[in-house]
Amino acid sequence: MIPLSQPQCQSEKGQTETWQEQLAGAFRDVPALLAALDLDPAQAPYLLEPRSPFPLRVPRAFASLMQPGDWFDPLLLQVLPLAIESDRTPGYSEDPLRERDTNPVPGLIHKYHGRVLLIASPACAVHCRYCFRRHFPYDENTPSQADWEQALDYIRQRSDIQEVILSGGDPLALNDRRLDSLLSAINDIDHVTTLRFHSRLPVVLPARISPPFIDSLKAIDKNLVFVIHSNHPAEIGNELKGALSHLRSAGVTLLNQTVLLKGVNDDTRILESLSRRLFYAGVLPYYLHQLDRVAGAAHFELGDDKARYLHQALLETLPGYLVPRLVREDPDIPYKAPLA
Ligand code: SF4
Repeated sequence: MIPLSQPQCQSEKGQTETWQEQLAGAFRDVPALLAALDLDPAQAPYLLEPRSPFPLRVPRAFASLMQPGDWFDPLLLQVLPLAIESDRTPGYSEDPLRERDTNPVPGLIHKYHGRVLLIASPACAVHCRYCFRRHFPYDENTPSQADWEQALDYIRQRSDIQEVILSGGDPLALNDRRLDSLLSAINDIDHVTTLRFHSRLPVVLPARISPPFIDSLKAIDKNLVFVIHSNHPAEIGNELKGALSHLRSAGVTLLNQTVLLKGVNDDTRILESLSRRLFYAGVLPYYLHQLDRVAGAAHFELGDDKARYLHQALLETLPGYLVPRLVREDPDIPYKAPLA
């Protein structure tokens, strides 16, 4: 654990910080994060980019899981802006999944049969360097109350929509009151049977799984699914386990999806350990994703052969229920395509 200037959940006066206070206190400055990790920028083994247009953002709870003095810490590598991100690589684009083509009303993406994705909040607690939405026009998709009404009307009018997926940014970046109001509105739509969250917030800011949020979930009369986004076993600490147990107590099915990232988790032992630690925390591995080819993230990509090799090794070492499906998102295919 890194020696942060104060315990991650306490203010200078020793009071427990709310998740909003923790969010406000996130690292947004590369030198400050490096100083907290005892790393001297002059010694960096790669070129940093402290002024990236997709700037650094790291909650202290997540930073506390990084190893001080390690430039190649797998959690640090996921969030540290590097100069290599501005290299232009053929095949990498700003909208790799062409989501702008499936964006019928602001804040809503309708690509999959029977499911819609609601961009509940454009904000995110962390800025992952491999994020496929790092160039998404969130300014045009920052939902106002009127936009939400338009998106909800779109869902109400289509009885074939059975599942609403709350995404972002991160849906849990919404405050409890707005989130509760959105959940209640969806709960009132009879043909929606399942509400799914895709959120990395429990991983990077476990305090976000707050008592009011759990109360909101308990009031929902739908199947509840929560897909956390964890990429490395070192991300699964005690705080996250506590947050996940609260979600389970609200009747939520917990799944995980992982993005394969060179230098972070491209190792059989790491992926095996991740599956086992997830399971001990009550989470089933769901997807192992090949990287979406977003501009700025090419240095994270693994070849398909390496991805298949890693997946095969998991099949050989883990029980089947702990082996995630190896998939790629293809803008021309209306489901996650298995990497055959
Ligand atoms: S948590 Fe998800 S949406 Fe947010 S920056 Fe990371 S990958 Fe992107």
